[in-house]
Amino acid sequence: MRIQLPAIPEAVDRLISEVERELAPAFARLNAIEAHNTRRVLEAFQAHRVSARHFAASTGYGYGDIGRDTLDAIMADVMGAEAALVRPQIASGTHALAICLYGLLRPNDVLLSATGSPYDTMEQVIGLAGQPGNGSLKEFGVSYRQVELTETGIDIPAVLAMLTGEHVRVVLIQRSRGYAWRPSLSIEEIRTAAEAIHAVRPDVWIMVDNCYGEFTDRREPCAVGADVVAGSLIKNPGGGIAPTGGYIAGKRALIDRIGCRLTSPGIGGEVGSYAGGYQSFYQGLFLAPHVVAQAVSAAALAAGVYRQLGFDVSPGPLDARHDIIQAIRFPAAEPLIAYVQAIQMASPVDSEAVPEPWDMPGYQHPVIMAAGTFVAGASIELSADAPIRPPYVAYQQGALTYAHGRLAVAATVARLQAAGYVQV
Ligand SMILES: *Cc1c(COP(=O)(O)O)cnc(C)c1O
Repeated sequence: MRIQLPAIPEAVDRLISEVERELAPAFARLNAIEAHNTRRVLEAFQAHRVSARHFAASTGYGYGDIGRDTLDAIMADVMGAEAALVRPQIASGTHALAICLYGLLRPNDVLLSATGSPYDTMEQVIGLAGQPGNGSLKEFGVSYRQVELTETGIDIPAVLAMLTGEHVRVVLIQRSRGYAWRPSLSIEEIRTAAEAIHAVRPDVWIMVDNCYGEFTDRREPCAVGADVVAGSLIKNPGGGIAPTGGYIAGKRALIDRIGCRLTSPGIGGEVGSYAGGYQSFYQGLFLAPHVVAQAVSAAALAAGVYRQLGFDVSPGPLDARHDIIQAIRFPAAEPLIAYVQAIQMASPVDSEAVPEPWDMPGYQHPVIMAAGTFVAGASIELSADAPIRPPYVAYQQGALTYAHGRLAVAATVARLQAAGYVQV
C-alpha cells in the first residue's frame, strides 16, 4: 500500500489554522453568496416544477424532450437571461464560446475583445494562431481587435473609441482571469462596461465568457446588461456532477440565432437527445452554488498560505473573488512543477500519476496539469494548471469540498518544504 498524500508536519497544519482565522471575514462573505445563489437556483427549480420525469433519458431527434427544454428554461432564469441552451453535446467551454461567435458574427463583422488577450484556446477560434484551413473566424472574414485591460479593469474610453467607424458586432468580455495574471471582473464592472457600450451602440452584442465565474457573485452577467454568456458544465455550473457539456444563455433572439449554428438553420435548439438522462445536470446545477463556495474558500486558503510563505498571489486572501481561480507565482519552473504534482498526489483519482508538461491542443506553450478528477478534466474539481513559461504562475482551481482543498494545500506545502523550496 502506498499513499501519495504526504504526512502533514504540525507546523504546516498550524500555519493553515492561523490563516483560516484571518480568513473568517472572507468565508462569511462566501457563505452569504452561497445562500443567496442557492435560493435563486431553488426558486428556478420550483418555478419550472421540476420532477422525476425531467430526468428521463431521451433518444433520436429528441423532439419535445422536456428534460432538455426545462433545463434550458431553468438555466435561463438562473443566468438572468431570456433563453438558454444547455447541452451535453457541447464538448467544452471553448466549443460553447465558438458556437456563440459563429452564430452571432457574419463576414466583415469585427469582434472586439474588451479584456485584452482572449483565453488561450480562443486564439485558434479567432484566427490569431493555428493552421490555415481550420475554419477560424478570420477565414470567414471576421476581423478581430482588442483593447488591453488597465490597472483598474476595462478601459471603457478605449473600447468606446473602437465602436465608432468600425463594424464591431460583438464585444467579448472575459469575466475570469483565465491563464493570466490579471484581476477577474466583478458583476458591477461588467454592468458599468455594458451600460457604457450600449449607450453609444445599442446594436452591439456584449458576449461574456462566463467560464469559472458562475455563482461567485450574486448575479450573472445577463442580469446586468450582457446579451449572451457561455460556459462549461465541467466547471462551476455543473456542480462537479454533470459529466460533460456546456451552456449558452442570453436574449431570446440571439439564442435562436446561436441555436441555428449549434444544430442547423431551421432546426435550432429544438432537437438533441441524451440517452444518459438529465438527472446529473439538474443535480449538479442545484449543488453548484455550494460547490463554487467550497472551491472559492479553498482558493482563498491557498492565497493566504502562500502569501504567508512569501509568494506573490492573485487575488490576495481577503480580496473579493469573481472566479474560482487562484494564481500563485513561483520563482522558477521546478517549484511550480513540484506544486502541480503535489496537487495530483492529493487527488482522489489517479493519485499515482505524475503530471509532466506537454503540448496540449489549443495552447501555445507546454502546459502541466493536475486533474485527479472523477469527471475527466473537470476543473470545478481540485486541479491546477500552469503554462511552463515565465513568470511561472500556477493556477489552482476547484475543490468539491473545502476539507479536500485544505488537505491539498497542506500537501503542496509539505512537498515544497521537503524539497527545500519553502521553510515553515
Ligand atoms: C476554461 C475556460 C475556457 C475554455 O473552456 P474549455 O472547457 O477548457 O474548453 C474559456 N475561457 C475561460 C475564461 C476559461 O476559464
